Amino acid sequence: MPLLLKGSCRCNAVRFEVESHTPVPFMLCYCSICRKQQGGGGFAINLGADFETLRIEGKRNLGVYQAGIEDDEHPQCEISSGERNFCKKCGSALWLYDRTWPELVHPFASAIDTDLPKPPEKVHLMLKYKANWVEPEIGKDDKIFDVCPEESIADWHKRTGMWVD
Ligand SMILES: [Zn+2]
Ligand SMILES: [Zn+2]
Repeated sequence: MPLLLKGSCRCNAVRFEVESHTPVPFMLCYCSICRKQQGGGGFAINLGADFETLRIEGKRNLGVYQAGIEDDEHPQCEISSGERNFCKKCGSALWLYDRTWPELVHPFASAIDTDLPKPPEKVHLMLKYKANWVEPEIGKDDKIFDVCPEESIADWHKRTGMWVD
């Protein structure tokens, strides 16, 4: 059974549920889009989940932000392109959706109320674009990337034994 993730914005105008085989919050993105839209600590943590299981309450309160085209000043990591959904009332960032991978949705770990598994190791990506004041805490088994890793969220979960069947 995949893990059922329940999430909400801060003001509760939007609530959602989605099933995930890949619920470990291991991937920290330091790109400027994630940082400005959600990442007060200098990064955002993205999860992977199955889009077709996404159920939303309070859909009318959703705003969608489509980040601009890719260039060096405004980079997009592979999961940062596409549509960023947020609550129009309180501003909480909720999830990313990208039509390039229509079967997936990427909730922000920050929006999830369900307890998540703890990551045995982390991936820090888009470090080339981090703000100067951010000092990433790199654990001894963590992996770091200037831009994007080749390993997908699914492959990471399979390699580390964290995939939820
Ligand atoms: Zn809200
Ligand atoms: Zn990002």
